[in-house]
This record gives sequence, C-alpha cells and structure tokens, in this order.
Amino acid sequence: MEICGGQTHAIMRYSIEEYLPEQIQLVHGPGCPVCVTPLELVDKAIAIASMKDVIFASFGDMLRVPGSEKDLLAVKAEGGDVRMVYSPLDALKLAEENPEKKVVFFAIGFETTAPANALSVKEAKRRGIINYSILSSHVLVPPAMKAILGSEANKIQAFLAAGHVCTVMGYGEYIPIAHKYQVPVVITGFEPVDILQGIYHAVDMLENGIFEVYNAYSRAVTESGNIHAKQLLSEVFEVTDRKWRGIGTIPRSGFKLSEKYENYDAELIFDIRNLSVHESELCIAGEVLQGLKKPTDCPAFGKQCKPEHPLAAPMVSAEGACAAYYRFHKIDFDENK
Ligand code: SF4
Repeated sequence: MEICGGQTHAIMRYSIEEYLPEQIQLVHGPGCPVCVTPLELVDKAIAIASMKDVIFASFGDMLRVPGSEKDLLAVKAEGGDVRMVYSPLDALKLAEENPEKKVVFFAIGFETTAPANALSVKEAKRRGIINYSILSSHVLVPPAMKAILGSEANKIQAFLAAGHVCTVMGYGEYIPIAHKYQVPVVITGFEPVDILQGIYHAVDMLENGIFEVYNAYSRAVTESGNIHAKQLLSEVFEVTDRKWRGIGTIPRSGFKLSEKYENYDAELIFDIRNLSVHESELCIAGEVLQGLKKPTDCPAFGKQCKPEHPLAAPMVSAEGACAAYYRFHKIDFDENK
C-alpha cells in the first residue's frame, strides 16, 4: 500500500503498475487529507462560510468537495465571502486586514501541513489578532496504518510510507508498527524512481523475512524528523480521536488545538449543530481509502462521478485516488456499458 495520494498520482501518471509482475499489487491508502475529511465537517465549513461577517479561507481543492447539499464554491456563488488561499498565513493576513470580519481557515491535512497551520495560530496569538480561527481536521498517519493492519479484511503486506510526512515527524513511530504487525515499511518519495526504489526494498524485505523500516528518502528524512516543527505541534495542538471519512473514528488519530489556543478553534466559536448529513449511496470511498477496493470497482466511477461533477472528495482532490484513475488510467468511459 502506498499511503499518500501524491504517490498514487505518480504511480498512475507513469503507469508504474503496468510494469510490475502480477505478484505485486499496489493498493492505494488513506493519505489524501481532503478525502478523509468527514462530510459533517465539510457541511460545518459550508454553514460557517454562509454566515454574514465571515471570510472563509481554504485551499483550492477543498472548495469543490461536495457537502450534503452543496460545496463551498456554491456558497461563494450565492454571495458568501469564500477565498482561496495558498497558505494559512494568507488567511491570517486577511484577518489582520479585515478586523470587522471573522476569518476562518479550513485547516485540513496530515502531519505535513500541520506545522504551518500551528504557526498561523501561534502568530495570531502573538500579534493579538482575535478575529482569526481555524476549522481543524488534522489527521495522523501511524494510527491509520494501525487501523488498517488491525482490520480483519486487511491484505496489506508492506507499506510505502509518505516521505513528506516523515520529513516532519521522522520515521521512529513506524518502527514499532513494522515489528508488531510484521510488515516492512519503506519511507518513499514521489518521483517514479522513488516509487520503484520503495517497491524494490519492500519486496526485498518481504523475501528475506525482514520487518523493519527502510529509509529510501534519506535526502529529506531522518529518524527523528524536524525537531522545531514537532515542538511547535506539541505546543499548539494535542492529540485527539478523529473521525475519518468512510473509515470511522480512529482513536488518537488527529490534532485539535490545545487549551492554550482554544480561542482560535472555529468549532468552539461557531456552535454549529443539527446538521443533517447525507452521504452518496453510490460512493465506496471508504473501501478505496482502506485499500479494499480500487476506484474502478465503484459503480459510479466515470459515470455519475467525474471530476466535473464529483460525488465525493477522492474524485476532486489532487491527491484523490479516483481522480488519479480518471486522469491517467486507460479506461473506456462508455456510459451505456
Ligand atoms: S468514483 Fe466517486 S463515487 Fe466512486 S468511490 Fe470515487 S469518489 Fe466515491
């Protein structure tokens, strides 16, 4: 299983699977932060963004993720002040420039994006900016790996772990996972040669009965990771249970703002309740995200669900497995079939 959606896109873009012997099957993991953000939170974002006196800031792909009724772009079309930003610090600047508005940043992502989001909150506090908050849906990779490996349906024999996550967190957390579940873990980058090298080391360890972590991304990753980023994370966030879309709640699998920074928590500032959440009945994203099915197994793939009218996030996100298959897989999309 390649954990990260960026790796999935590289695999599909360069048709890596086509060159592998049939004994090696790649399955796509849950490492697309947009995809695992629960629908309730997307609906909450839409409810907040629709409020008067709110500027709602988000990365671009989140704007097109369908909520139960509409997406954030529809809120913008209806007159809501929804802005696409490239960094949480852009959102903080919006707060500074618009003191009469409440600026909310949709802070989603894995350990990779969490330090920048933490920094924006710390900076807001330091500069006395009180009209800035984040709607946080931060998730963590190791608990998701454990949930997948602990499931009765699990078929994963080795992991290609996400190099960028490990540049922040290091790879120390993966060593006990490799030992306990008897799976090799290779820290892997995102170029085609990185993926091939990762597959090579995973197969090599499996053939030799070695269940360890191999760092194939040593140009960027160390065992302990980025100490300064980790210190920032432990100051601003605390570990909490998180709901993953299609998977359910995984204990201690995400970050929420620590007590010291809870005045910047949009979920506490905007008390949104009684949302009625409707998942698409056709979508099998939960099984895709756990590596149990491929996007092409979904009955809606390329028919009711396409990038122009997605039913769920994996068809929207630049890291979504369904979007990768749609873009790069050679499929005949005859809707009459
Ligand atoms: S193709 Fe669309 S409907 Fe099917 S699993 Fe992917 S996102 Fe969900």
